[in-house]
Amino acid sequence: MKKTVSFSKEATNLFFHLLTACNLSCRHCYINPAQHGTQTLSIETIESWLTLFADRSPETNVIFLGGEPTLHPDLARAIKKARALGYGSITIDSNGYLFHDLLEKVTPAEVDALSFSLDGATAATNDVLRGAGSYEACVSGLLKGVAKGFSTSLIYTVSDANLHELHKMPELLEEWGVNHFFIQVLGIRGHSAEAESQESGITPVTRERWLSVVPQVAQDAAERGIKVTWPKVFLDEGEVFECAGHVADNLFVFPNGRVYRCPLCEDHPIHAYTIEGDALKETPAINETNLFELSIAEGCVMNRLVQPGNLEYHEDGRPKWRIACCLLKEEITP
Ligand code: SF4
Ligand code: SF4
Repeated sequence: MKKTVSFSKEATNLFFHLLTACNLSCRHCYINPAQHGTQTLSIETIESWLTLFADRSPETNVIFLGGEPTLHPDLARAIKKARALGYGSITIDSNGYLFHDLLEKVTPAEVDALSFSLDGATAATNDVLRGAGSYEACVSGLLKGVAKGFSTSLIYTVSDANLHELHKMPELLEEWGVNHFFIQVLGIRGHSAEAESQESGITPVTRERWLSVVPQVAQDAAERGIKVTWPKVFLDEGEVFECAGHVADNLFVFPNGRVYRCPLCEDHPIHAYTIEGDALKETPAINETNLFELSIAEGCVMNRLVQPGNLEYHEDGRPKWRIACCLLKEEITP
């Protein structure tokens, strides 16, 4: 059964970017070094920040990201520290290259999910977006993880450049033994916000195309026994709009110490908090928290500001639909 995943303040999700460096340079990468820093955190700092967030909220779910997190030589140590601190779950988001022999240093008991990013069902489509050889490297890393008994997920970021291959994914995921399929929507931030990307066709799909393809592909994957999660994006008439900034606890931590609560804010210096020493400090207004208070007819305020292309209006100025919080997901658990 399909359900909308309700927001909850009970479970904190900590998206911990250990570094911004990466071996790839995907055309739609959301990392913005000018806003997120270029440093690689030392293991001492990582351990100190993990302790800070564990103290703030027990059983937080941590997702280690980058850049490419496996480029960090001490990722295995960070995972073990998070486990020792009692984190609720530990996920690694990787492009599949799995540097530093990560899978030799951690066990499936220490990692709840290895998550791989692939943006095409074929190398031809994926590699145009993510770089030559990246399809083969990702699939090979994923298969290695499955063979070692790790729970795996795959993230497919849908855009105009790869929607046509999304329907091929469920069969592949079943063949590869993937447990969880995340369909993501392209956000206009980082590289995607640059004019060059938009001119070369890496643009979000229209509402009509999204709704005509994504729910059916999700259903197909679920029928094959794969859990599927995808963003709601477009609210139906009568559905409640909620901003995760109000009703959930998501923290997006970057190596320069900025902590955001909303991914759509990450291209701008309006982060809610900064880590100073080993303390989390609120930043002075105006910051993203003040934006979460605003109520507009279009739904999400940040969407209206940074990616209004997904809205349409009636002649009298009313929006034809509202845009959901980018963190609101639909899910089918088989
Ligand atoms: S693998 Fe991830 S971090 Fe690296 S360039 Fe691609 S999207 Fe960015
Ligand atoms: S995406 Fe929109 S609705 Fe969601 S947290 Fe950000 S501002 Fe709030």
